[in-house]
Amino acid sequence: MATATIIDGKHFAARLRTGIATQVAQLKASYDLTPGLAVVLVGDDPASQIYVRNKGVQAQEAGMNSFQHRLPVTTTQPELLERIADLNEDPAVNGVLVQLPLPAQIDPQAVIEAIAVAKDVDGFHPVNAGLLATGGTAMVPCTPLGCLMLLKAYAGDLAGQRAVVLGRSNIVGKPMAALLLREHCTVTIAHSRTRDLAEECRRADILVAAVGRAGMVKGDWLKPGATVIDVGINRVPTSDGKGRLAGDVDFASAVEVVSAITPVPGGVGPMTIACLLLNTLTAACRQHDIAVPEVLPTAD
Ligand code: NDP
Repeated sequence: MATATIIDGKHFAARLRTGIATQVAQLKASYDLTPGLAVVLVGDDPASQIYVRNKGVQAQEAGMNSFQHRLPVTTTQPELLERIADLNEDPAVNGVLVQLPLPAQIDPQAVIEAIAVAKDVDGFHPVNAGLLATGGTAMVPCTPLGCLMLLKAYAGDLAGQRAVVLGRSNIVGKPMAALLLREHCTVTIAHSRTRDLAEECRRADILVAAVGRAGMVKGDWLKPGATVIDVGINRVPTSDGKGRLAGDVDFASAVEVVSAITPVPGGVGPMTIACLLLNTLTAACRQHDIAVPEVLPTAD
């Protein structure tokens, strides 16, 4: 019978947001400083609209100022860059995020590089990626930051553990690997050209799956007692036509083998926005030379 801990990311994220709200209130009381998050949405992609609305609501619930900039789908790249330049200069704005994907006429990399490094709360700017890779003070991408928090709470002492990261994207896989290396794990990054993926996975004390392939990682790919963080969000068809969300890990077989695992939905997903709020708080503190508070819930 399975005895694995099912990591409740929703509950963990709620406690993280409570901790952030407490720190935001203290910033206001001690320094008269209210962190501000600006989110820019270009076009009317329905999923992006929901994400942007949620980010605004959660920022406000944490006591932050939320600034939403909705631009038409016809916005040109120079127009968007001008808006970003204004936000970079605005002292009320501590974090700037441009919701991806962008319409085809806009180069996302140019947009990412236009955001001030200190306000880059998504952590996608190449300078922040470089700082993370070289051990500097970086803004860390939200999803891997959330995964790391869950691992710190549920995987014990990370130092020396063998970690395998499946996926090497700039937004999840690479920064995740850099964070685990910073925590003194022995890190392997696997991807679509990896020769024997199952064998690589079987060596992992910690497995982070971020490939975007529903149920790819089976229970017999996993080391008994491993901790598994499933980043994948995949929509799979169901007989009623509605579809359901599934992770990259085959949960039913994995849960029989591992010691702890995140479900999909309800695992990593809720941590991402909570970490965006944390990054906004961090950015506001750094911009005002205030010590960044430690906000790290424990497993309960
Ligand atoms: P990308 O598509 O950018 O990267 C996927 C990575 O997986 C690539 O490195 C690719 O390898 C690798 N890969 C793809 N297929 C295979 C395969 N069959 N075997 C081995 N490796 C493979 O995706 P993202 O990193 O942006 O996202 C990954 C998943 O995480 C998605 O499901 C996404 O929806 C989800 N996600 C969830 C978030 C959350 O908040 N929970 C946030 C961000 C993403 P190669 O480089 O060789 O092509």
